[in-house]
Amino acid sequence: ARGASLTDFADKVGVDAASLVQVLFHMGEMVTATQSVNDETLQLLGEELNYDVQVVSPEDEDRELLESFSLEFGEDEGDEADLAARPPVVTVMGHVDHGKTKLLDALRKANVAAKEAGGITQSIGAYQVVTEVDGNERAITFIDTPGHEAFTAMRARGAQATDIAILVVAADDGVMPQTVEALNHAKAADVPVVVAVNKIDKEGADSTKVRGQLTEYGLVPEEYGGDTMFIDVSAKAEIGLDALLEAIVLTADAELDLRANPNQRAEGLAIEAHLDRGRGPVATVLVQRGTLRVGDSLVAGPAFGRVRAMLDEFGENIQEATPSRPALVLGLTAVPGAGDNFMVVEDDRLARQIAEKREARERNALLAKRSGRRTLEDFMSS
Ligand code: GDP
Ligand code: MG
Repeated sequence: ARGASLTDFADKVGVDAASLVQVLFHMGEMVTATQSVNDETLQLLGEELNYDVQVVSPEDEDRELLESFSLEFGEDEGDEADLAARPPVVTVMGHVDHGKTKLLDALRKANVAAKEAGGITQSIGAYQVVTEVDGNERAITFIDTPGHEAFTAMRARGAQATDIAILVVAADDGVMPQTVEALNHAKAADVPVVVAVNKIDKEGADSTKVRGQLTEYGLVPEEYGGDTMFIDVSAKAEIGLDALLEAIVLTADAELDLRANPNQRAEGLAIEAHLDRGRGPVATVLVQRGTLRVGDSLVAGPAFGRVRAMLDEFGENIQEATPSRPALVLGLTAVPGAGDNFMVVEDDRLARQIAEKREARERNALLAKRSGRRTLEDFMSS
């Protein structure tokens, strides 16, 4: 555990805590055995004891934790033949007020499946739309948290949720600072970009200018010989939405090989979660591999539980969720964070064990942060 007291450290390096307290005392540090120790002290202590002290990232730490249960997150199991096509997962990014929220709402409404079912989509943090391309019904998953904050927050945690980024640029405003920021995030993540030139209904809209501006940033429109699709849209007047959906599918087909194994234990990411008065913790998860089913034992960050029910973006009960499908999950004991990974495990007991270890670790990390100190295990390589 990241109990991270001097006692724990002593256990790990195989000396008794009292002598560590003494060593520190001689180094001019007054530390009791139950205290945690700051970076510099740890490095010094390491040198003193001839012990290699290294900073361990939370991601590595979690990987190690899972390994200790013989689990691994992030890989498809099986071989080529086990992989099946999955829909692209899309994030909308762009400068403030350029229409990200409006566009996400408009795309929801453009959903073929929604029209057929007469359904109204609910906000669950992500949703899937179905569109027709070349006579085939194709699904696209949208992560419904606009802005690159969510995108970067997840990436910072090593969670790659997005396959394609839609860069929204208002045609009356053109490229703005956050447009460039968003673009750079997409580049850094090596995620293909589809540009939605929005607000073309407005007076003063100049979509040609936007194309010229973005060309300077390396996003060259197809019509200029580049490989980025630019689609003129109006989220407000609902213009160009089908073309945008088609562009996403075409970009996915041209640049990505999106496949996953639906026949393995499910794993993916928590996209959004909150505590609901009536239903308890509810989390929207994005399945990345495998198929999540009602009744599965789940661990999601520091939360665990058995999937009591799953709902889709129409509020309809679903029994299972395949790769790239977002689903609202009921039955967790706590609220996971956005970007936390989830995985199905053999039984509730195992789920609880992992969750408890993560919780203890988070609690300690928080305490260490508050006291301005890092916990010992943050720096231990073994
Ligand atoms: P966000 O900050 O990028 O999420 O932008 P919003 O979606 O909140 O939109 C900002 C403002 O632009 C709102 O007042 C929208 O109604 C408006 N807006 C968004 N899309 C369009 C559009 O296509 N045409 C026009 N005329 N206004 C739009
Ligand atoms: Mg918004």
